[in-house]
Amino acid sequence: MPPFLAAWDNRARMSLSSKSDLYRKLPSLDEFVRGPHLAPLIARDGRPAVTNAARVVLERLRHEISTGHLDSSAIDLALAGLVPAMEREIRISLGYALRPVINATGVILHTNLGRAPIARSAIEQIGHAAGRYSNLEFDLNTGERGERDSHVDRLFRQLFHGEAVNGEKYPISSIVLNNNAAAVWLALNTLAAGGEVIVSRGELVEIGGSFRIPDVMQQSNGVLREVGTTNRTRISDYEKAISDNTRVLLRVHRSNFQITGFTEQPSLQELVTLARERSIPLVEDLGSGAIFDLRSIGISGETGVAESLRAGVDVVTYSGDKLLGGPQAGMLTGRADLIRRMRSNSLFRALRVDKLTYAALEATLLAYVKGEHDAIPALRMMRLTKDSISMRAEAVGRALRTSPQFQIELIDGESVIGGGAAPSATLPTRLLAITVKKLRPDELLSRLRGADPPVIARVQDDRVLLDLRTVFPEQDDAIVATLRAQADPA
Ligand SMILES: *Cc1c(COP(=O)(O)O)cnc(C)c1O
Repeated sequence: MPPFLAAWDNRARMSLSSKSDLYRKLPSLDEFVRGPHLAPLIARDGRPAVTNAARVVLERLRHEISTGHLDSSAIDLALAGLVPAMEREIRISLGYALRPVINATGVILHTNLGRAPIARSAIEQIGHAAGRYSNLEFDLNTGERGERDSHVDRLFRQLFHGEAVNGEKYPISSIVLNNNAAAVWLALNTLAAGGEVIVSRGELVEIGGSFRIPDVMQQSNGVLREVGTTNRTRISDYEKAISDNTRVLLRVHRSNFQITGFTEQPSLQELVTLARERSIPLVEDLGSGAIFDLRSIGISGETGVAESLRAGVDVVTYSGDKLLGGPQAGMLTGRADLIRRMRSNSLFRALRVDKLTYAALEATLLAYVKGEHDAIPALRMMRLTKDSISMRAEAVGRALRTSPQFQIELIDGESVIGGGAAPSATLPTRLLAITVKKLRPDELLSRLRGADPPVIARVQDDRVLLDLRTVFPEQDDAIVATLRAQADPA
């Protein structure tokens, strides 16, 4: 063996043997769990939880030895801290992984943060429906089997009263599915399987992750018939594409992007007229589906559910946890005869929602029927004025300025609705721009994430920005306390 290789071999051998010395310092899982130190933890949290935590903690040490991160003295230190490490591990493993966070991003319908927070009445209704029996599918008048849709269908009817489709010929009805993706799929599968669906090339969108219109189409067994170009589609393009095989004209909300410049899109009215002339159903995937007037908060150009139905769209699909501000769900609303066909699709059962969703949805819709828009958190946040946000931001700023660690400025900014609603629309807001001495902004951001409850913010121009529009007013004090704790750790 050449000398340099022998030297290498020797070193490798030494480090191997010293590593096995290090491993030998670790207790076996069995002796560790049976030892006296863990007895109080076992008494408190049970043997299975403690054994699991011990496995994780010891495995972590083994991993650190194998990657050369621990030498002999570091191991001794780690062994001395085994019990506190076990305490931490047990606290994490027996605690909730899905936890509430404070959303200071200013994105109202933040998909990663659970989209719409639901109304208090919706939370209470969930409690009632969940903890006791209910008349979910039981008609209290007749004592016979009822339909789970009936509880919310009555409210949808009230909300869209007078929007009877197709010149009052058809009443309106609604069904509820797991989410809007399921609603689009069920509509296409019911109406178009084996036939063609005409869609503009400008609307072949992908909405986050795996929802792509062409893929949904394929999964529904409909055949996609693309018309027009990315930026321009005319009504004549649809007209020319119609054949004996056409089952549906589909319009899709662009949700997360805008096409500007040299563009053209037929009006909803033109599409409705064409669909009626040819007796082909017009289906519109509204995505967010507002059932309150967005113009009241200065956002124009978004078609709401009622508006679409009034224009004569046969079936609209929309989400429950976007602009509607309710639980995750997908709605199909429109011509009762078409909705009935979708309801009798054998896959409806696989896509239908549970009693908890119905409970939350009914409470949310009731708030709309009663005109209590501020009871729905997402709507209340959209309607907040810049002045009222500014006043709260000033109060938070004042409370923090008592500590010399902070540098705080209030600046103008923009909140966004999110959830694919009105992609270009923003709401004017007042932001807290914060720096903390001796802390980089990304460090502060990550400490805020590590707090309990975690505070989610963003960094811009080397400052941490907080938008109180999406913070519940009763959380303002928690924001102050969390920021103080990060700046002057006790
Ligand atoms: C968000 C969105 C969907 C998907 O809705 P989910 O409720 O998340 O399934 C589908 N289509 C459009 C246009 C959307 O904006």
